[in-house]
Amino acid sequence: MEDKRELFKQPLHSIYIPCGLIIAGTLLFGLEYLPYSLTFIVGVCSFKYYEAYQRRSLIHKTQWRDLELIDKTLINRNTLIFRFKLNREDEVLDIPTGHHVACCFTINGKDEIRFYSPILNQFDAGFFDILVKHYENGVVSRKLAELREGQTVKFRGPFGTLDYVPNMAKKLALVAGGSGITPILQVITDIITNPEDNTSISLIFANESEKDILLKSEIDEIAKKYPDFEVNYTVTNAPENWTGSTGYVTKEMMQKYLPEASPENRMFICGPPGLKSLAVGLSEELGWEKDNVFCF
Ligand SMILES: Cc1cc2nc3c(=O)[nH]c(=O)nc-3n(C[C@H](O)[C@H](O)[C@H](O)COP(=O)(O)OP(=O)(O)OC[C@H]3O[C@@H](n4cnc5c(N)ncnc54)[C@H](O)[C@@H]3O)c2cc1C
Repeated sequence: MEDKRELFKQPLHSIYIPCGLIIAGTLLFGLEYLPYSLTFIVGVCSFKYYEAYQRRSLIHKTQWRDLELIDKTLINRNTLIFRFKLNREDEVLDIPTGHHVACCFTINGKDEIRFYSPILNQFDAGFFDILVKHYENGVVSRKLAELREGQTVKFRGPFGTLDYVPNMAKKLALVAGGSGITPILQVITDIITNPEDNTSISLIFANESEKDILLKSEIDEIAKKYPDFEVNYTVTNAPENWTGSTGYVTKEMMQKYLPEASPENRMFICGPPGLKSLAVGLSEELGWEKDNVFCF
């Protein structure tokens, strides 16, 4: 069953003080006015609750919803950002940090379902973006690449197991590979847009080559603006003038660019299976407790 308590967070937070004042005023003027005050307060709360309910994302966990592609941006030779329209201009995709949505194409009568982590921040309204790397023989990623503006795709969600809580770590170590940057970027965005989250972040981002590094300029921009965010890129095929690291993620790289293993620190890893098992193995060698390492 859906947790309806979430709905109350937004609608009620701005009305505690006015309600308190109304009750205090009623007590001053006479208890006989109390039923009117209470009726008024219940009315206002119901209205705010209804407004918040309307504002909730219509993406549903169990029912597929057709969403229209409104924009498509090529970001490198095999990666595109797709923008899908939500049902209302003020609708915000209600998705917890590090979670993803399911996307479905029916091909030859068979439902092909794949997962994508929206790249969004809490200020995006009326749409959401997914960044998709397409593969030559990839069933769904190719279908998405061929999609034209105005066409629709079935979505469902959100899904995910990460329970990100601000300041859950003093220092956060992030390891991403290829399109595995998408949920990692959600976490980074969440932290840097929350002034109360003081987590310092270190990211190792591994890719095949320099031109495969997704959203590099955006990540560099974040590193420039936020002193508590550091990034180190590593590429398997490095060009001559490359200043980052070269090759697969190593223990030395993790020692040099990530915070030390400590009960106060956390590590999040996302990428292809090979990178995930490599980074998990190295984290164990570096003394990280299993409970402090999360794999998307
Ligand atoms: C929780 C979660 C979140 C994800 N978020 C994103 C996201 O934000 N953006 C994104 O682009 N992808 C993401 N993925 C991966 C995505 O769900 C698909 O697996 C991917 O798009 C490939 O699907 P496909 O149908 O095109 O390929 P498939 O038909 O499933 O595979 C066909 C072939 O494509 C190639 N291929 C597929 N995946 C990979 C890979 N990871 N590395 C190398 N070769 C591969 C292989 O040659 C494979 O044999 C996520 C996956 C998960 C589980």
